[in-house]
Amino acid sequence: MSARIIDGKAIAKEIRAEIKQRVEQMAVRHGMRPGLAVILVGKDPASEVYVRGKIADCKEVGIQSELIELPVEVTQAELLRRIDALNADPAVHGILVQLPLPGHIEMRSILERISVEKDVDGFHLYNVGGLITGDTIFPPCTPYGVQKLLDHEGIDVEGRNVVVVGASNIVGKPLAVMLMQKDATVCICHKKTRDLAQFTILADILVVAAGVPGLIVPQMIRTGTVVIDVGINRLPDGRITGDVDFEGVRQKASYITPVPGGVGPMTRAMLLHNTILSAERTLGERPKSFKLSAL
Ligand code: NAD
Repeated sequence: MSARIIDGKAIAKEIRAEIKQRVEQMAVRHGMRPGLAVILVGKDPASEVYVRGKIADCKEVGIQSELIELPVEVTQAELLRRIDALNADPAVHGILVQLPLPGHIEMRSILERISVEKDVDGFHLYNVGGLITGDTIFPPCTPYGVQKLLDHEGIDVEGRNVVVVGASNIVGKPLAVMLMQKDATVCICHKKTRDLAQFTILADILVVAAGVPGLIVPQMIRTGTVVIDVGINRLPDGRITGDVDFEGVRQKASYITPVPGGVGPMTRAMLLHNTILSAERTLGERPKSFKLSAL
């Protein structure tokens, strides 16, 4: 068996094209465009690359973006003041604070200050809590991107065994909860899990977000498993790789995502999706929240 490779880059391109149309319609009908504000604190090279990518994506689809670059020594009070100003600005529909923040800034207070109606990253406690009740304003972008990939390929999770490797607040945990809302049977593994393979072997769908290159090898999965690799790791030679032994596992899996070109572009696309959704809500064109089970 050789797996079908899920082309996240192509699917994300389709999503961006659809968003671009919605943005143009909004400009014609209402004379406005969605606005995304991105706050970048300091000069972390990886964060700078991510932020520039997000700004370029906005440009491509016609979303107005504003990059607010602040020095690494910015105070918590100043950062909160900036967020308050963006919360009050009707031209801003989405606010994103690029993580990680410097150590002297209390991350949770910053994320909680963002208006829940503008929390397009989905990291505000209200949105995180909404995942549990099944009714949220913005799902977080990476888990949402994974769900969209599965939908696009017609992979139904209902009643299937889904194993999520990685239990972080931004990927593993929210994804597990979102898949539960769709009636998957979900198992979450993490670095303290003993004998990871005894769990992964049960997976109909395996999602890996651990940040460990080569963690998943063919012996750990059943023939026909759907494998979604969220990991992004830079090898010493500069290459980017996921958490899955791609060449080995693709011989056994039914579907597999490549790295790069799988989940990464979807994460970026879902940020744009959340931003247009937010703008459409201000026009009363979309409900204020939605059921995760219906996503
Ligand atoms: P994290 O470090 O916050 O969490 C990693 C999780 O994996 C933890 O729960 C940890 O317990 C678990 N883990 C670590 N080693 C393990 C092991 N040997 N066996 C089982 N579980 C193990 O990381 P994160 O922010 O969730 O990111 C995870 C990976 O996903 C990273 O490679 C990151 O770069 C990538 N990522 C990709 C995207 C994307 O858009 N594709 C978005 C976010 C993160």
